[in-house]
Amino acid sequence: MSALTNLDQIVSCITGYDPDALPVDKALEVIDGLCAPVTQTLAIERVAVREALGRVLAEDLISPINVPSHDNSAMDGYAFDGSQLQVSDAQVRLSVVGEAFAGRVYSGECPAGACIRIMTGAVMPRGCNTVIPQEFTERQGEEIVFLSRAVRSGDNRRLAGEDLAAGHPALQAGRIIRPADLGLVASLGYAELPVRRRLRVAFFSTGDELRSVGEPLEAGCVYDSNRYTIFGMLRRLGVDVVDMGVIADQPEALENAFRRAAESSDAIVTSGGVSVGEADFIKSMMAKLGDVTFWRIAMRPGRPMAFGRLWSGEAVGEGQSAVLFGLPGNPVAVMVTFYIFVRHGLLTMLGAQAEQGLPLNVVSDERIPKKPGRTEYRRGQLFIGPDGRAKVRTTGGQGSGILRSMSDANCLVVLDHETNLIEKGEPVKVLPFDGLV
Ligand code: AMP
Ligand code: MG
Repeated sequence: MSALTNLDQIVSCITGYDPDALPVDKALEVIDGLCAPVTQTLAIERVAVREALGRVLAEDLISPINVPSHDNSAMDGYAFDGSQLQVSDAQVRLSVVGEAFAGRVYSGECPAGACIRIMTGAVMPRGCNTVIPQEFTERQGEEIVFLSRAVRSGDNRRLAGEDLAAGHPALQAGRIIRPADLGLVASLGYAELPVRRRLRVAFFSTGDELRSVGEPLEAGCVYDSNRYTIFGMLRRLGVDVVDMGVIADQPEALENAFRRAAESSDAIVTSGGVSVGEADFIKSMMAKLGDVTFWRIAMRPGRPMAFGRLWSGEAVGEGQSAVLFGLPGNPVAVMVTFYIFVRHGLLTMLGAQAEQGLPLNVVSDERIPKKPGRTEYRRGQLFIGPDGRAKVRTTGGQGSGILRSMSDANCLVVLDHETNLIEKGEPVKVLPFDGLV
């Protein structure tokens, strides 16, 4: 048997654990328990800075230098010693004794009564701590006079290290690298970054009624859409995907597919086959392959779900293993359980900082009644009301199979476990689908 934590160990630490009426937050705790240890074994690779976009930083990145490396000017203007500003109320008049450009340092002196013509980004000349912007001055031959006294000592100067200080972490391990981070890393002079290797995620759909696009649709059949939404959501997470197609509801075919998936991937995402009628034969088969629990989660949509670890070998604990997310079959239930559980689990496996999509509080544009004792996710459209405030309305039919309203949505409206009603005009929690891309 392996040293990996098993579900019984994890579950025994959770108070009030009931797999048949499991609150969303308890399910997340179990998922954390099984997924977090994976981070320790996930290889680290060094990639060129640009290749790190969207990847998870594996180690703290310590700044080797001060950025900026010298005090420098924030404006085009004239640099001088700001202590001269207090001397009198008379109009300030300074003689221009030199020039400093970005990348070209002025190395001479700047005595009292003098100033240096300076450009944005140029190193502050010795003896100078203040810059007066050009537009506040008038040039008179070799002198300038101040047209305004709005400048105080120290103004318009950027200090060495004010962006990043040498020896301090510039970025912390677990960071998902964004465009600003690429620039920040480049400003430190790094050409490569240590990132976690990409996760490999296998996925397939189950159901005798499913047809793949391109096949004729016989009576009673539906096209397999889950493999498309799952593909899209996985791609957005930046994982490597392995599409295993549609697997029929036959024990042998399923067992074979699960073993192949466990052999080749870090995680497996399936849809269908976990609802009450179907779960029984799957349950007995899963017991052979791994350590899997079947939940009825106190949520809507997306109640039934299987979660655990599967092995590719002849017995549990033998061969390769992968974390299993057995999602429900209904297309919207698949998407909601993916966003809430699979996304969380995969980011946890990657050791990504808890960046789980920040919920926002916005004004509900409608009255939303709801049953207490379960978390509900409604499909919502965020918009800006005539008063300039962000509001949300739901997008129509909320049945767990209705993809139309999911496609029309730009967020999920989250109605917490205990909530029984949101009145029109009251604040409500939303999870936006997209930040800036
Ligand atoms: P199940 O959980 O397998 O009983 O499936 C629940 C519902 O979701 C049934 O109506 C299925 O036909 C439907 N369904 C299951 N898998 C898919 C899929 N991959 N694409 C579209 N609909 C599906
Ligand atoms: Mg099915």
